[in-house]
Amino acid sequence: MDLTRRQALQKFATGTAAAVATAGLTTISLPGSAHGEEVKEAPKKAVSMLYDATRCIGCKSCVAACSEANNLTPDTGLSGGLHQAPTDLNAFTKNIIKLYRPADGSQWSYVKQQCMHCVDPTCVAGCSFFALTKNPETGIVSWNGSKCMGCRYCEISCPYHVPKFQWQGMNPKIVKCEFCQERLAAGKNPACTSVCPVQAVVFGNREELLDEARRRIAESPDKYFENRIFGEQDGGGTQVLYLSHLPFEKLGLPNLGTESIPSKYMKWQRKLYSFLVVPTVLYATMVGVIRGSWKEHQHHMLEDQKQTGLRPQL
Ligand code: SF4
Ligand code: SF4
Ligand code: SF4
Repeated sequence: MDLTRRQALQKFATGTAAAVATAGLTTISLPGSAHGEEVKEAPKKAVSMLYDATRCIGCKSCVAACSEANNLTPDTGLSGGLHQAPTDLNAFTKNIIKLYRPADGSQWSYVKQQCMHCVDPTCVAGCSFFALTKNPETGIVSWNGSKCMGCRYCEISCPYHVPKFQWQGMNPKIVKCEFCQERLAAGKNPACTSVCPVQAVVFGNREELLDEARRRIAESPDKYFENRIFGEQDGGGTQVLYLSHLPFEKLGLPNLGTESIPSKYMKWQRKLYSFLVVPTVLYATMVGVIRGSWKEHQHHMLEDQKQTGLRPQL
């Protein structure tokens, strides 16, 4: 896809606002913004995952299967090399199980975390170089290393703190769940959903999984928090859906409202663009950022030179 200067500028602006909105978690209440202008919907064939925290036994089979299916180096540091023990999503972990257990020991729960494959993803909206894209048929959000400039906007702007930058190696990557696309192409289900011994996480079409979640809620009306499916509408909707007996925020799922962050921002951006405020502010910001980075770079370079005697090849 060709990238025009205007597109890059608009995407830079979207990413900046998204990062600001995410940092403030998360409602940028924009003056006079009307609702419902930019609503995006999941594709009809959207692939999806339903995780039911009330079923999960915390065995972490899904974590090991994800690592194996994605050829990731097992994160065994904390276990002294014995078994997978990642503490969070990281450069070698696309899927993790965490435990919520308050000090009084009451009402605990496991929770699975991976990319949510948002219906209107902030990471895609903010990536100035189209390195992150959402497949129009499956809705899978994937990363293209040949387009990525390593700016890490996606890492800052994602409201679920999912993408991680792999610093190690000569060719660093953005690491996040891409819904086991190669397995799907081979007619298999995603690895994490294939191994769960209690079907706490299941794979399917988004509409069908929403129906399944509604069925479970109807069957046990007092079991689930607010009788609600996280991801049906949260943050504009996600393709990973959650059921839980505890408030979703306790499980690290933020309260985003029903509108997506890019949707909120685009309305704001249109208003400001109409007064040419954004281009002016953005150019000034970009010049400031570049000058600041360059000065910092020079400072580090001089420090390195003092310590190592190395010189850049000019
Ligand atoms: S969860 Fe984050 S990384 Fe995944 S699609 Fe949504 S914004 Fe992008
Ligand atoms: S869909 Fe694949 S990459 Fe994503 S969490 Fe599951 S196993 Fe990992
Ligand atoms: S495999 Fe199933 S039960 Fe085991 S931790 Fe993963 S989601 Fe929970």
